[in-house]
Amino acid sequence: MRALVLREFGGPLLMEDVPVPDYGADDVLIRVKACAVDQFDLTIRDGKWPTARTPIILGHEIAGEVSAVGANVTNFVIGDRVTSTLYLTCGHCRYCLSGRETICANFKGYIGIHTPGAYAEFTTVPAVNLVRLPESISFSVGSVLANAVGTPYHAFTKRARIQPGEKVIITGAGGGVGVHAIQLARLMGAFVMAVDIGAEKLEQARALGADLVFDGSSGDFSNTAREWTSGLGADVILELVGTATFESSIKSLARGGRMVIVGSHTGTALNVSPQAMIANEWEIMGSRNCSKQELAEVVALVGGGKIQPVVSGVFALEQAEDLHKRLRERNIVGRVVLEPS
Ligand SMILES: [Zn+2]
Repeated sequence: MRALVLREFGGPLLMEDVPVPDYGADDVLIRVKACAVDQFDLTIRDGKWPTARTPIILGHEIAGEVSAVGANVTNFVIGDRVTSTLYLTCGHCRYCLSGRETICANFKGYIGIHTPGAYAEFTTVPAVNLVRLPESISFSVGSVLANAVGTPYHAFTKRARIQPGEKVIITGAGGGVGVHAIQLARLMGAFVMAVDIGAEKLEQARALGADLVFDGSSGDFSNTAREWTSGLGADVILELVGTATFESSIKSLARGGRMVIVGSHTGTALNVSPQAMIANEWEIMGSRNCSKQELAEVVALVGGGKIQPVVSGVFALEQAEDLHKRLRERNIVGRVVLEPS
């Protein structure tokens, strides 16, 4: 099969003819119809993920057709349209059993790092990770659901527990996760202030339903947030940025507010006064991707037209280098997808 292989960290993605990957008794072989590309691919490629090893085939956001099934797999057949969750989990610890498998106690790694990824014509995934895609969802849209839609879905429904009428700030709102976070917060009946940098991203945020947009290049957004909330502050803040916005976010948080940290690409230093946390009963928490059940719920929302995934471009495998360059420059709105076969 054709695959883009990374032979050394920091090196080029090489188009090679490699064997179709082996699949185990509990696995499914998938003909990859779409693989979304994201910042995590760059992290791995640059050698900044400690457990990654070369040679490696990147690609963890997968949609495709079932091409073969392992001996123990009874719930999928050849030709099924599927997408996948992102992690390799044990399926039997207390977290897996309670629908919180993204914090599995026996976490076994990542699809696309610890299994061969989907920058290739075929990839393998444990059957337990797969969710069916209805015909109404294209493969390119299907490939972005687990990460770009599932991540804010889990953050808002299970972690922040957004209530109708609440005011929500989203930092990094023009990125792949942010554009879907805006739609989800609106769907849950919240008002949204979107923070990002650059006219194109802010226009997109407004078009997706943000009630207020703020250009982060003009600095601290907390005064604007306080005005927007009649001085009360935001009930919920979704942090997709990190140190560059943490201080503004904390200053914008209402009494009783919840701040959910999902991304920190600008740095991880977070300075919060325990006294302020106590006095305001702030909840400051992390959120990690989504469970398979949540992915199934996202598939239902998208299939039913409640959320419109933003896929801003679909490209051939050969164009992955160019996409990585654009990702590095952060000049992509929404998500971009490769079509390996
Ligand atoms: Zn587990």
